[in-house]
Amino acid sequence: MKDLPSETDFVVIGAGVAGLRAAIELAAAGRVLVLAKKEIPNLQTPDPKSEARWLSDEDEVSLHLQDTLDAGDGLCNLAAVKLLLEEAPERIEELVSWGKHTGTKLVFGPENPHSRSRTLHAEGQPAGRETLRVLRDKAQSMKHISIVQFTVATGLLPDAGSITGISILDEKGTPQDLPCASVLLATGGLGHIYRNTTNPETATADGIALAFHAGAELSDLEFIQFHPTALYMKKVPRIPLPETMLNEGAYLRNFELDRFMAKYHPAGERAPRDLIARAMMHEMEVSRAKDPFVYLDLTHLRATAVQKHFPRIYATCMAHNIDITEDVIPVLPAASFSMGGVRVDLDGRTNVRGLFAAGEVAATGLHGANRLPSNALLEAVVYGARAGKAMRESARSQLAVASHPKAAYSNGPVDSGAEATIAQIQDLMWRDVGIVRTRAGMQRAVKRLEEMAPELAHPKTRRAYEAWNLHLAASLVARSALAREESRGAHYRIEYPDHDDKKFLKHSVIRGDKVVFLS
Ligand SMILES: Cc1cc2nc3c(=O)[nH]c(=O)nc-3n(C[C@H](O)[C@H](O)[C@H](O)COP(=O)(O)OP(=O)(O)OC[C@H]3O[C@@H](n4cnc5c(N)ncnc54)[C@H](O)[C@@H]3O)c2cc1C
Repeated sequence: MKDLPSETDFVVIGAGVAGLRAAIELAAAGRVLVLAKKEIPNLQTPDPKSEARWLSDEDEVSLHLQDTLDAGDGLCNLAAVKLLLEEAPERIEELVSWGKHTGTKLVFGPENPHSRSRTLHAEGQPAGRETLRVLRDKAQSMKHISIVQFTVATGLLPDAGSITGISILDEKGTPQDLPCASVLLATGGLGHIYRNTTNPETATADGIALAFHAGAELSDLEFIQFHPTALYMKKVPRIPLPETMLNEGAYLRNFELDRFMAKYHPAGERAPRDLIARAMMHEMEVSRAKDPFVYLDLTHLRATAVQKHFPRIYATCMAHNIDITEDVIPVLPAASFSMGGVRVDLDGRTNVRGLFAAGEVAATGLHGANRLPSNALLEAVVYGARAGKAMRESARSQLAVASHPKAAYSNGPVDSGAEATIAQIQDLMWRDVGIVRTRAGMQRAVKRLEEMAPELAHPKTRRAYEAWNLHLAASLVARSALAREESRGAHYRIEYPDHDDKKFLKHSVIRGDKVVFLS
């Protein structure tokens, strides 16, 4: 990792899969600064998450296409899906060749609801982590790329309708402005607007807020996917337990240890994931427990088979004193993926000149109203590369000038109140704009968020910026959800349980203070 350079040509905000893949593309055109607000995760540490979904040799493109369209519930952008599938093989071959010296062995395995084997594994390691490791090593080997950790982008600098730089807080908390030719937002998700999320702690919607303040349009923000079975333990991150556990015979049990899924769907624990999440929420609500959750039960399955099929989950739960072959596992649904984001074309261009977006923060319309599990990493690789190429091609000729440190805040700003405000936003969103939505709940959320706005103005510290960003993203999600008067994909409203294709077979778009619907 490097120190902050005083000059750069391109800034990539985010050092995940999308940001790193774009940076590799951009390095041919100039100096690239990649920012990560936290440490890039230690990729040697065992991690139970993130298998990656790719297209296997024996697979048929049409099956993947159909599965993606089915999951998207009528709202997928067909061109974005086709492009993903067309370009995926080349992007994957590239990754495999970059990672070859490590001897990574890639194999494919099944995972529902995909109709065929389409999950890439890397010698027992999650392929998502392996992908990030390969991209990080490749980017670090390129002399034009500087990856700088612990530096937070706090603003985009506009000039005559174009983005010409960014504002940051550096590692010491000193604000600086950094000019550049163009900026890529690759900041990941917004899961932390909710009390329960499987997202990394960096997923505080910074890219959404940066884009909105710069005048960029946002799209489909009401569509948030909730992973039904996240491990629930106090003070432990919500680790997603794979849905294959349900497909392989695990039971869901309520607080009284009764199985309940048959009441909600004839397929029981094999019902669609959104329906499972809603059933779980209902059981949690009627339990009237102060701290509700349900249980995932594998104790009736053969212990050796459970250990063999889920070695990482077995080890992770053991580390928290849960033996999944003998104990039931406390679980609840948790926000896992944002289908919407900054509205972009198929090359990652936003409506603001010099501003691009890729990965989870971007909305190409690829996922429609719900994501096919694991299409996200493929999206980050394919669309990260496309955005990098487009930025390279549209680079303006002038080189960026040196950065300007601003005065450091005297006495060092403190984060007083940010934590409590974030907790309030998360509780509000979980209760009123979560898995099951009502008009009254969403109106209450919008109103309360409006009342909170003055407390959040003029942030100075990293955490205060995150609170500000989460507050804005929460308001935009709530307003988009209120505007969509139907149920579709991951958006479920009690008053409107069905589709309304006539009015809403369209994407929601936030333009300034309005939510409009466009085909
Ligand atoms: C637990 C879990 C399991 C998943 N499993 C799968 C799976 O099996 N298959 C699949 O396809 N997808 C999966 N996903 C989704 C997928 O991993 C993500 O959608 C994808 O990694 C997003 O990549 P990204 O590059 O867009 O963002 P991220 O990887 O989230 O990277 C965001 C980067 O932005 C930086 N950042 C954010 N804000 C700022 C700021 N203001 N200033 C500077 N830097 C900033 C962060 O530090 C980070 O480096 C999973 C996600 C989670 C959380």
